[in-house]
Formats: sequence, structure tokens, C-alpha cells
Amino acid sequence: MGKEDRILLDHGSGGRASHELVREVFLPPLRNSLLAELDDSAVLEIGNQRLAFSTDSYTVDPIFFPGGDIGCLAVNGTVNDLAMRGATPLYLSAGFIIEEGFLISDLKRILASMKDAAMTAGVKVVAGDTKVVYRQDVDQIFINTSGIGVIGVNTNISGSSARAGDCVLISGTVGDHGVTILSKRGEFSFEAPVQSDSAPLNGLVREMMSVSDQIHTMRDPTRGGLATSLNEIAIQSNVGIELQEDCIPLHDSVVGACEILGLDPLYMANEGKLIAIVSPEDADKVLNCMKAHPLGSEASVIGRVVSENCGRVFMKTEIGGTRILDMLAGEQLPRIC
Ligand code: MG
Repeated sequence: MGKEDRILLDHGSGGRASHELVREVFLPPLRNSLLAELDDSAVLEIGNQRLAFSTDSYTVDPIFFPGGDIGCLAVNGTVNDLAMRGATPLYLSAGFIIEEGFLISDLKRILASMKDAAMTAGVKVVAGDTKVVYRQDVDQIFINTSGIGVIGVNTNISGSSARAGDCVLISGTVGDHGVTILSKRGEFSFEAPVQSDSAPLNGLVREMMSVSDQIHTMRDPTRGGLATSLNEIAIQSNVGIELQEDCIPLHDSVVGACEILGLDPLYMANEGKLIAIVSPEDADKVLNCMKAHPLGSEASVIGRVVSENCGRVFMKTEIGGTRILDMLAGEQLPRIC
């Protein structure tokens, strides 16, 4: 990227431009072996303990939406990034950037939501920071959370561990969060009988890990959606991924909204779903375990990992064709989370 290039909304999409920004601008000056893994959280070895460490910022607009708000999103999002490494999330920090004039009652509502989410996930917020900026220097409120969790001795779950032959599982319907936010945004605003799936996934992950030690990779498909997350895994693990379109769970209302708006639900954000890549011998066991959990009742095996087409994701369509699923290109909707 040249001297005159500027940051575009696309650089925050979580898709191809975000990845280029990370690789070309952020990584070169900050590079170290932990950061370069580019997983959902870094795994730190301190003494004989391994810790997962992650951070994320939340700028969602609107701040209150069906199924959640910026507060629960900020807790669940970081909890989930820790859980995707197989860690037990323990402690969070929370930083707030607030616009002058923001209602204290709205701040209290957000904090109550964070309290409930933290209790559900079994984590504590143990450090915080508040900055207030001039009116219009930020839109209402932005929140950053960081978190740490502990990782068991034999747990090695990462984006680079998927192997040919593995099964690809998804814990439920995709695109719900993205369509919910879209439906409440001034410029698009429409009625959709769908709500955000914002939820902490560490309980589901704990159950899955109790029935199998053959879960190779997990990822929560947030910005950029299922398709982008699978592309990341295909690149990190240097494998191909083949999806079966008719196995991907979708709410009718999400399909309908996406059709009308010309969007693809496979690129829409999720805030309470996980991808699990599991050795074929354990796939049924893990799937049944997911289905028995309230956050995985619509879980499905959606494809497999293959040794050809490394770094690419393909989808067998319902009408029998094959479609290349690339990373998200362009920004579908800024401030989705
Ligand atoms: Mg993530």
C-alpha cells in the first residue's frame, strides 16, 4: 500500500481488504510468532500454564437491537474468541469511548446487559477504562473488551490444524445477526422476524471437548460470515474445503431478506455460532453433542476438508453445480458488531 492510500470502510469488513491491511500494514512492524498465527486469540505460555488472550472492539449501530445490544455483544464476542482456542474464559477488561450527551440510563442498560452476559459465560470484568469525547467525535458509544482464559494441557485447537478428511460442522443457522442489524438500520430498515444470535459459546465448547479430543479447529464466523471464516481456515491449514449448500442451516427470513437486498447469507455476520472441524471418526459424536445443547440444536455437518484446491473453499450447489466461495470482497455493512 502506497503513501497516498487511505483507510476505507472496506478495511474494517473482516474480509479480503481487512486481511490485506493486517498482513501489509499491521504485521510487518508488530510481527512476532504469536501475533503471526492470526487466530481468534493468542496462546501464551507462562510458566507451565497456557493462557488464551484476545481483544475486540464493538461499534455496532444501533446499540440496542432484537436479541441483544452492544453490551452483551462486547462480552460474548471476546468470550467466544477465547473459547475458539479451547480455552476456559476467565477475566475481561472493558474500555468505553462515550460521546458527550449520551444518556446515563442507556449506559446503565448496557452495563446491566454486560453483567448478565458475564454471569452466563462465567467470566468477570476485572479492569476498565472510560473516555468521553466531544459530541460527534464518536457515535454514541464504542466498547473494547479484552479477555484471558486458561487452556488445558492437551488442547491444541487452531485455524492451522484442519486436515484432509475432516468434517466441517456449523452449530446452527447463519446470517441471523447480520440480517437483524441490517433490518434496524435507518438507511435500509425493514421488518424481519429474526433476532441476533449473540450468545457465549464457551458452554457449548466445553461439552464438545468433553466428548472428543479430535476437534482440530474452531472459529466463530463473525464479520465476513461463514464463507470468509472458512477461507481463513483453508489458507491457515493449507487445505481445500468443500461445502454442501443444502446442508447449511438458514432461517427463511434470512434467506428472504438477503434475496431482496442482493446479499449472501454466507457472508453475513454471526455472533453466537461456531464452525468446528473434526476428524471423521468423531464427527457424529460431536454433532450429537452440539444438537443436545440449546446453542447447537440446529447443528449440521456442512462439508469436508480436502487435499486438493488448497486455500480455497468450494460449494456444491443445490442444483448440482460448483461455486467458488471467496473471502468477502467489499463491505456489505459497516458497524455490524
Ligand atoms: Mg473470532
